[in-house]
Amino acid sequence: MNDTVICIVCPVSCPVEVDWSEDEGINSIQGHLCRLAHDFIQSEIFDPKRMLTTSMPVDDGDWPLVSVKSDPAIPKAMMLEVMDAVIGLRTEAPVRVGDVLIENILDTGCNIVATRNVKRVKA
Ligand code: SF4
Repeated sequence: MNDTVICIVCPVSCPVEVDWSEDEGINSIQGHLCRLAHDFIQSEIFDPKRMLTTSMPVDDGDWPLVSVKSDPAIPKAMMLEVMDAVIGLRTEAPVRVGDVLIENILDTGCNIVATRNVKRVKA
């Protein structure tokens, strides 16, 4: 099977021609500018994942929202399901970068972690 997959590892966004099959895996790739494409194409064809980024309301913080991300990336097919699970949840200040706000969301093996600090402003 032949597909064109855009490598999104860096902003160059190389269009990569991929010859692959379920049985044999990746036979060949062409059009990539560097070797970083190999692992990405392998994952993109057989187990695509994406980093989910969003924000979550914070109670009693110096900011009303804290930015969050999935760690590690989640299966691409579960992006909307995971987003639905995050919407409506709140957390409480203080929050520190790297804090796990939701552990193993939807049994994906991925956590939702804070990507900024939010200080507590109320006693
Ligand atoms: S193949 Fe290399 S240069 Fe091209 S998008 Fe991927 S990482 Fe960037």
